[in-house]
Order: sequence, then C-alpha cells, then structure tokens
Amino acid sequence: MILIPAHGISRWSMSTRAEPGCEPRFLADRMLGRLARWLRIMGFDAAYASDVHDSEIAARAEKESRVLLTRDRELSMRRNISAIYVESDILEEQLADVLAHFGLKAHAEPVRCTECNGILTAVSAAEASAVLCYEIVSRFQLFYRCSACHKIYWRGSHWLRINDTVDRVNSLLASREHHPKSGRNGKVDEPGN
Ligand SMILES: [Zn+2]
Repeated sequence: MILIPAHGISRWSMSTRAEPGCEPRFLADRMLGRLARWLRIMGFDAAYASDVHDSEIAARAEKESRVLLTRDRELSMRRNISAIYVESDILEEQLADVLAHFGLKAHAEPVRCTECNGILTAVSAAEASAVLCYEIVSRFQLFYRCSACHKIYWRGSHWLRINDTVDRVNSLLASREHHPKSGRNGKVDEPGN
C-alpha cells in the first residue's frame, strides 16, 4: 500500500495548477506504469494501458481526450492524438517533462488512487477501522478510500520520500527555466501532426 497524506492537505495554487476543468488527463502506455502512479500522487487523472495494441491505445487517448504518454516514438506521432514522447528512463525527468509542457509544478495531493486511478474520498477513522488494524487507526486522524477499488490511504512514512521526489522534480523544472535548452527530453505532438 502506498501511503499518502491524510491531513494538512494543501491545494495547488493557481500558479502551479491549470484552471479547474482544464487539467490535463493522461494515458500512459505499458512502459510507463510508474510514471502514471506518480502523476496520480500529484492529483492527476492518469490512466494506464497495460496490455493493448498501439492502435487501441491511440484510439482510447483520442476517445477520452487524454494526452498519451509513451516511450514509442512512432506511436507518439499518430494523427488525431496529443502525445508526449517520454525519452528518459529517470522518473524525475519524466515527470518534469510532462509538467513542464503544461507549465505546472510538482505537488503531492490525495485525489487519486495510485493503484487504479479511482477518486479518493475522505473517510473517518471509524470507517477505516473496519479494514485497518488499531495501531494504524490510532496513530492517524484522517483516511481516504478509493471509490473504485476501496483501498484505504493515510499519511505514513512514505510521505517524506514522496516529498523528496516532489522537491527533486521542482528543482529540475527550476533549472530548466534558467537553462531552457538543457535536459529537455519530452516531445509533444499535437493532434494532426
Ligand atoms: Zn483504487
């Protein structure tokens, strides 16, 4: 279980998040499951296409108006879809490539289930106690449950490591602002290109 914050939630400021209703939605290909999970940690709607053919992935991205994230350059150049060709193997660089395209900064937010992309809703400790042991329920005040797979989340020791990754991604983004021609691997193909 991946642990995420259960209290002290800070919303994205307008300077770090797209306008409500205009946030990008993503579809990660089979090679980018980890990237999809991290985009969910950052509050994005990030679906994952595990075992489907390229044509099905492209069709889903178009149908659901999702930005396709792929390590397949040829797939990224398909017509009628928006796609980001993810070249780097390094998670932080991948995240920076995606966020930079939309002018966003990294920020963890308990909105999406990291496992299935379902919406998280707050639940009480009493509700969480139905599935969690007393030791955990007694140490934390707020919990979240996935509306799809019903997994329970709370802020635990993983949170510090999540914040470390968030900080590294924002440092990368800041360095690129100062040196815009260095370290950019992401390539975005707009529909019709
Ligand atoms: Zn879930």
